[in-house]
Amino acid sequence: MSKNIDWGNLGFSYMPTDYRYVSRYKDGKWDEGGLEKDATITLSECACVFQYSQSCFEGLKAYYTKDGHIVCFRPDLNGERMENSAERLEMPPFPKERFVEAVRQVVAANKEYVPPYGSGATLYIRPFMIGTNSVIGVKPADEFEFRIFVTPVGPYFKGGAKPISIKVSDFDRAAPHGTGDIKAGLNYAMSLHAIQVAHREGFSENMYLDPQTRTKVEETGGANFMFITKDGTFVTPKSGSILPSITRRSLMYVAEHYLGMKVEHREVYFDEVKDFAECGLCGTAAVISPVGHIYDHGSDIYFPSGMDTMGPWTQKLYDTLTGIQMGRIEAPEGWVVTIE
Ligand SMILES: *Cc1c(COP(=O)(O)O)cnc(C)c1O
Repeated sequence: MSKNIDWGNLGFSYMPTDYRYVSRYKDGKWDEGGLEKDATITLSECACVFQYSQSCFEGLKAYYTKDGHIVCFRPDLNGERMENSAERLEMPPFPKERFVEAVRQVVAANKEYVPPYGSGATLYIRPFMIGTNSVIGVKPADEFEFRIFVTPVGPYFKGGAKPISIKVSDFDRAAPHGTGDIKAGLNYAMSLHAIQVAHREGFSENMYLDPQTRTKVEETGGANFMFITKDGTFVTPKSGSILPSITRRSLMYVAEHYLGMKVEHREVYFDEVKDFAECGLCGTAAVISPVGHIYDHGSDIYFPSGMDTMGPWTQKLYDTLTGIQMGRIEAPEGWVVTIE
């Protein structure tokens, strides 16, 4: 039985659900973990997460496929990425196999919150880890909490994906000491001011350039860039300081193996951007948000696909990836993991 929720009118906001998965780390090991009902966390005011932001997170979704199964898309890659984020922040990695099992448990326990097939809504899954014991001298915590909550969220695009207008930011996305490739709140804290500035100026998002030279395209606050050249090549920036998006890695595979496109994963100079035919932002939430216009300090780039619809290649990539996710197109081995 589904909960009595108006699935068609959900936004992207938090709604507490019945269960969350929690595991705690103490005396050098993770406990066995399990489902809990309390949606609040009580911590010392001096917990490391509050003082020194020792925290990282993940984001993925569960949804119904066409044939009535609840599935997740490539959760093993989220588990692997979270291990990397934890290591970079001196936190004990939560093993990726346990991560996938925990996702399974928490989604199954909250299955009444999984939106029906075709509603466009999904169950958003938010794993995170924080340093929980008090630390005042600068050092890592030695007690941690790994937690996953889930919350139903509405379709990212209500009424179709309209291309957005973005600006080249005067700010850097990530902390300038090499944490741009991990999924951590500290990088998002760095982007909050930049995004508010962009919104006040009428733009939906920022394009961040590499902080050293400001000549190469990095990513936006929470999504990687993809471009299509005029002759139909898929191009996406390679950089050690952007987050390795699972959507972007999946699109690279889909472009090559399903659509027969040439794929280039390489440094992309901002100077080349004006010559691309299509541009999009890719991430779990939106899959692809088409970009129609980029503003850069007084000059404008308009992509030929315009401001009304996605470009033709972007649309094909979007349809193929969402088709794979929803079970309408056969998925590569291991991509779609059945919860039940
Ligand atoms: C989560 C995230 C993305 C998108 O990654 P997906 O795995 O595709 O959801 C891109 N950039 C940043 C900074 C992110 O945090």
